[in-house]
Amino acid sequence: MSRTNSSVKCKGCNSVLYESSDIVVEKRMACPTCGSLNRIFNIECLEKVNLHDKIDVKKKSPGYPSKKKLRVHIKQGDEINCGSGKWVIKERRIDKDKFPPWYFELIIDSETGEEIHRDEGPLTEHIGHGSAKDNPLD
Ligand SMILES: [Zn+2]
Repeated sequence: MSRTNSSVKCKGCNSVLYESSDIVVEKRMACPTCGSLNRIFNIECLEKVNLHDKIDVKKKSPGYPSKKKLRVHIKQGDEINCGSGKWVIKERRIDKDKFPPWYFELIIDSETGEEIHRDEGPLTEHIGHGSAKDNPLD
């Protein structure tokens, strides 16, 4: 959705003039207030944009061997739900600094705010389950 507003003003006295912005200079009427032929054109475009954001935060601790450095992994953002084709807000949090290491997943319908899915529990119970598979944390 977009809307364009344009206005023409006299450069001499700043009066708003009701003339089209595409009139060639030779055909312009002199400003009724000051007689100037110079103009200022303002063109304003308003555009409605839907933004979809995603964050991906990783907390690594140097005290662990390389494969275990990743302690906390948070992913949150908008994505298209495979099943419904609707926009959802998905949050997934894997926290290995908690005891026991914790897994949390929440999916909310972007339009209605309705909770579609919530899954939470010790990480060990989630290894190999659904979307936990593509996030190899050990
Ligand atoms: Zn003028």
